[in-house]
Amino acid sequence: MPVEEPAVCRERAEEYRRRGWWRPELLDEMALLGARTRPHACALVDGERRMSHAQLAAGVTRAAAYLRSLGIRRGDRVLVQLPNSLELAVLLLALCRMGAPAVLASPVLRSHELDRITSITEPTAVAAPGIVDGFDYLNLARALRSRHPSIALLLITDRTRQLQQGEAVFDSECGHSPEPAPAACGEEPASPSETALYLHSSGTTGPAKLMARTHEDYGCLIRATSEVLGVSSDWVYLAVPQLTQTFALSNPGLLGVLAAGGTVVIAPANRTPEALRLIEREGVTHTSTSPTGLRQLLAADRMGRDLSTLRVVQVGGAILQSHEVRAATHALDCHVQQVYGMSEGMVSLTRLDDPPHVLTHAQGRPVGAGTEIRITTGSGISAAPGESGELLTRGPSVIPGYFRDPPATRQAFTEDGFYRTGDLVRQDESGNLAVVGRIKNLINWSALKICAEELEALAGIHPAVADCAAVGKPHDIYGETVCLFLTLRPGQDPPLLEEMRSFLKEEGIAVYKLPQRMEVLDTLPMVGNGKADRAALRSLAASLAGRAAHPDTGDR
Ligand code: AMP
Repeated sequence: MPVEEPAVCRERAEEYRRRGWWRPELLDEMALLGARTRPHACALVDGERRMSHAQLAAGVTRAAAYLRSLGIRRGDRVLVQLPNSLELAVLLLALCRMGAPAVLASPVLRSHELDRITSITEPTAVAAPGIVDGFDYLNLARALRSRHPSIALLLITDRTRQLQQGEAVFDSECGHSPEPAPAACGEEPASPSETALYLHSSGTTGPAKLMARTHEDYGCLIRATSEVLGVSSDWVYLAVPQLTQTFALSNPGLLGVLAAGGTVVIAPANRTPEALRLIEREGVTHTSTSPTGLRQLLAADRMGRDLSTLRVVQVGGAILQSHEVRAATHALDCHVQQVYGMSEGMVSLTRLDDPPHVLTHAQGRPVGAGTEIRITTGSGISAAPGESGELLTRGPSVIPGYFRDPPATRQAFTEDGFYRTGDLVRQDESGNLAVVGRIKNLINWSALKICAEELEALAGIHPAVADCAAVGKPHDIYGETVCLFLTLRPGQDPPLLEEMRSFLKEEGIAVYKLPQRMEVLDTLPMVGNGKADRAALRSLAASLAGRAAHPDTGDR
């Protein structure tokens, strides 16, 4: 198989292996360790469905055979756009085992983002559900296939849909499949140094980037977070964020908890009352969520629910204020752990025994013995202790570059392999990091990232728009909402916000990226290099009265 991934320099790779940070273990082997240590214990709960560790292992074996019988082979890629479910877990592990990595795509993405991901990764199959929250994912997948000839097969998790040629049901049973086919003749088993799965990220500039995560580097991340948290078989972890993103998948998330023989309870996305019911019903001990999710949890009527089993709530993906950490610790009577990290690989956590001011004011220290960080000021020199600067990071769980995207890699990585996060941080004398801002043009809506340039490129196609710039407007629940500033072409009437949203939706952009506020200006404020003065626009957006016009993100 041709090596396409940007490779970690050979000496560093050898060092990572020598030091045991990279181990010769496949992710599916790691996640299915529980089948050996606690075969009959519950591994996964999804609604009323339950699977023991042994059943999960058997399901993965069956699924791999089924996928082979459908023609999926080692070296193929499968775009997986599934909501949190048993099917997602089984499919992901089966594909790891086959050496046919999943390209994980969040269910919030639409044709604009999926087209890009598909063009880069050229998947041979797409896995999608039927209708979820009123949106028809099967239609989205069919349309995607019509535009991308690499896609030969659609795997659909909804048995009730009428399937067409080139479509097959994929459910957690896979038992209704034709006779399982043996491993294709001459097919070598997957290797730990190869890609286990692909993640997508907004990166620091431009549209979505793809990251090839190997069994070695992703396994290293899972072990490092598991070690800090002391994951054990008595964990009952409620997976609230999307499992297609790294937070709930690997920090320690689904994969770390399964490896320890614990139980993962799958929560439907953004359903706070359901999450509360599951915490009580399943005796959940650990969960992770975004600051928005935490705010919603605190604001929800907890209806006398018994949440006393809850030991740790991990909160990450966006800034959490210190008073919110205190309020949540008190209200939920458990540890609130701040998590700062990125799909590119570095994760920083507060430790549960950190002093109170660290727990509330910092995002902790990076995990993993080999993780290196640098904090540099605008002129590229190292920041003095306590001074803020951009965080750069490198290490055995940090990718060395983006998949098939050399220009983005050159911009975002230094020559010696450090990833430029675009985040402004400060480090205290004990090594704790606090995120104090960012230099990338990213809007962080409820821990989902919106690249300003991507949105501006689409809004700029609108016939009335001469120039535009998107910035974040502070919001007390979502962190930020999108505010679009624009100037008009001569003789054009200003479009209504609703019109602009419909226009962008027609362009196929994910609904969460749509502007929630739009302002027409005579001219955009500019900085010296002729670019929009985003700092001035952010202040202007913050000063605009009123809440966002569209707090919802539904597709209906
Ligand atoms: P993603 O790769 O989509 O997970 O996004 C990673 C980015 O989210 C980081 O580079 C930060 O900009 C932001 N982020 C993640 N966690 C935090 C946090 N705890 N506080 C502030 N920003 C965060």
